[in-house]
Amino acid sequence: MNASTTQNPLFYQTSSHIPLVSRAEGIYIWDEDGKRYMDGSSGAIICNIGHGDPAVLDAITQQAQSTFFTYRTQFENGPAVELAQQLVHHAASSLSRVFYVSGGSEAVESAIKLCRTYHLSRGDGGRYLFISRFPSYHGSTLGALALTSYAPLEIHYRPMIKSAPKIPAPYCYRCHYGQSYPTCSLSCAHALETMIKQLGPENVAGFVAEPIGGASTGALPPPDDYFAVIRKICDKYSILLILDEVMTGFGRTGKLFAYQHWDLQADIVALSKGMASGYFPLGAVMCRGDIVDSVLATGGFPHGHTYAGNPMACAVGRAVLKRIVDDGLADRAAAMGERLLQGLRRLAVKYPIIGEVRGKGLLTALEFVSDRDTRTPFADHLQVGNLVTARAFANGLIVYPRRSINGLSGDHILVAPPLIIKETEVDELLDRLGRSLDEASTRLAG
Ligand code: PLP
Repeated sequence: MNASTTQNPLFYQTSSHIPLVSRAEGIYIWDEDGKRYMDGSSGAIICNIGHGDPAVLDAITQQAQSTFFTYRTQFENGPAVELAQQLVHHAASSLSRVFYVSGGSEAVESAIKLCRTYHLSRGDGGRYLFISRFPSYHGSTLGALALTSYAPLEIHYRPMIKSAPKIPAPYCYRCHYGQSYPTCSLSCAHALETMIKQLGPENVAGFVAEPIGGASTGALPPPDDYFAVIRKICDKYSILLILDEVMTGFGRTGKLFAYQHWDLQADIVALSKGMASGYFPLGAVMCRGDIVDSVLATGGFPHGHTYAGNPMACAVGRAVLKRIVDDGLADRAAAMGERLLQGLRRLAVKYPIIGEVRGKGLLTALEFVSDRDTRTPFADHLQVGNLVTARAFANGLIVYPRRSINGLSGDHILVAPPLIIKETEVDELLDRLGRSLDEASTRLAG
């Protein structure tokens, strides 16, 4: 069957036409017409080690010759155990236990259910509320959506979910309190304590946050002292700190895990995306050992997914982690990210539609504004993030827009190429992006 000529029954988020992929290698993808695209967003910020890695192909072939699948409650498998040991080793913290899942939303769901079960196991069953932040993105399943504050993806489903109470994210460019750092004294972090008191500390189970904001806020690193305040408040009220590292993990921001930027101890961490780098569906929850001990001593964790911890996914995860560690890809992300940020700042000087350049490592973003002085966003219908993304695609560069559904437009793009990108390729990316910004600016002015 020729997939491009026969009617295609597949559907995703919108009806837009997308090209058929022919092959992918390194940081490039080719479509069926032979057009080459630079993958400037690692897919959906997932393909950290790039496409077509021979070591991963080897790992897949070898594992397939042994065992494709066994069910997690019937057989343990070597790749699952070894990957868990490696994760714990590299977490270099009190995160000493691992629970596998197959994606980011599943990881977040598992994290909050584990947290709730832990409180129950300690006879503290009143604790069931989770506080999260706005804006935020934690996944598309209903539990993860309840933690999410990103209208284009959750507004339709609000009547179906019990939305989590939310505090402002540390979005300094658009401070919720109209303040500036550092004179603000981190009002956004202290808002956690206010919210806990409002809800009653005895009802609150956990606080969920992306260590560096991803899709909803656009590569948003917090002030360096933000999480120290958060940690202190969580400890004061015996609330677990759950970090959603689904996008930031596995070297993306210049450390293997983003919490390592601040020497921060999380209680539970949700992982996916870069964990198998797009080669297989895989995710995990890492957590403090005493959480698991307490849960297992009092009846266990009544939760799990059929594909979790399967040998193929874990063999891929093991090969991907080895590649990231052996080749120092986190350090590489830090160095290439600095070059990329410098280049993006040069583009910002040239193109006034760029209001802010931000990011850490190879998780970077441009936020677009119609007036840089007043930081006024573009009118919703202009969908500038999508416009720049479309121009970039035409110019052979893939970037990741904040999505727009039913007129709820975004106003930033993520630029987050694979961590294997070379200096000359960063320059090529900037060149293609510059051309695309030029075309978008002309169209907006016309
Ligand atoms: N959490 C964060 C921070 C994410 O960025 C995403 C996906 O973009 C998810 C959770 C959901 O992951 P998945 O799409 O694998 O379910």
